[in-house]
Amino acid sequence: MQVRLPSDVHDANGAGLRRAYLVSIAIIWSSAAIVWVLNGTLGPFLDVAVPALLVYLGLLLIGCWRRLIPVRVVGPLALLALVAVVFSRLVLWRLGILPDVGSLGDSMSLAVQLAVSFPVAFVVFGTRRGLQVSLLIYLVFIGLYGNVIVDALLGRGSHPGSPVALSMAVSYAVLITMIRLLASRLEQLTRERARADMLAEQATTDPLTGVANRRRLDDELGRLVAQSRRYDQPLSLILIDLDLFKAVNDDHGHAIGDQVLVETVRRLAAQVRDADLLGRWGGEEFLLLAPNTGHVAACALAERCRQAIAETPMPTVGQVTASFGVATHAADDDSRSLMRRADLALYTAKAEGRDRVIGLPDINARDVTGVTSDPERLPEEGRR
Ligand code: GH3
Ligand code: MG
Ligand code: MG
Repeated sequence: MQVRLPSDVHDANGAGLRRAYLVSIAIIWSSAAIVWVLNGTLGPFLDVAVPALLVYLGLLLIGCWRRLIPVRVVGPLALLALVAVVFSRLVLWRLGILPDVGSLGDSMSLAVQLAVSFPVAFVVFGTRRGLQVSLLIYLVFIGLYGNVIVDALLGRGSHPGSPVALSMAVSYAVLITMIRLLASRLEQLTRERARADMLAEQATTDPLTGVANRRRLDDELGRLVAQSRRYDQPLSLILIDLDLFKAVNDDHGHAIGDQVLVETVRRLAAQVRDADLLGRWGGEEFLLLAPNTGHVAACALAERCRQAIAETPMPTVGQVTASFGVATHAADDDSRSLMRRADLALYTAKAEGRDRVIGLPDINARDVTGVTSDPERLPEEGRR
């Protein structure tokens, strides 16, 4: 697994990474522009390199900002500019075309620019590639200044830049090792988090239909009832049971039955709002939690769901219908009493002939068919 910037981990389309590149390139571009404007001349190399860099980074900035350049290309292009400037300066110094690294300012700017290229390489390319690119940059540096570094190690000191080059070589080795260590740690954390997310997802999702499972529905129901009580907001439950589903299995087999369950969920999901929670309560029963939904609106929603299932034949099996029980949170309700009322409403819908919506608005109400909503007075077969 490759490590990416944390922003990229959280933001699948790379918008966070694009923002990070935009800010970084804008900072480099502005500081280079200020240096160029404020200084009359910067020396033979920078007088050419800085305007070239301004044009290159300016184009990169516009391309990144206007989304003309894919975000995965922006990083390598920025790193290329950084490395090109540093190494062309080093090569020119080495070839004697520029005065050699001697001044404190020159060595400091070179040291910092090279040092920055290592974390940038890890961010742009991920852990494994980032390490390879960093080592490549490091080796080119050693290749150019190896003999100077050896001079410093042997105490020959024939070159004024020897101690600086030696200190850079040692510091970069430590820097690359530390970044590699941090990147691996981040990689491990990312892997652990992805695994924890996956387990959490599995623990709360029904594997067949992909909607919430009973555990999640139970948790959310408790939470929503508490919220509804506290803020006096309406909350409705819609309990859904496919009609005569045993016959579907008997006639077409369990696999086709499973497909009907998946198609049912697809149709129900198309009717619900983002704030609603649809889940599989068990077998061929589904539960829809509708926060901020009063009884009339919940019955209308249930009716739309009923039509979505019944009015278009299912593949292979033809028409399938479902019965709906609707209950709405009342002052003294807890999640158990609310659920029992939805169950009772569903039982009534079944008893009345299936393929219909029955609502029981509050604890003491009698439903439209006159069946009591008091579960204690419910006939034995109605207590499911
Ligand atoms: P009713 O209208 O009274 O609800 O009749 P029904 O046949 O739907 O009710 P019953 O409770 O007798 O049968 C439910 C059936 O649902 C029985 C069981 O085989 C089927 N079932 C439960 N879970 C699954 C599942 O995961 N896949 C499939 N294919 N069938 C399931
Ligand atoms: Mg059932
Ligand atoms: Mg059924």
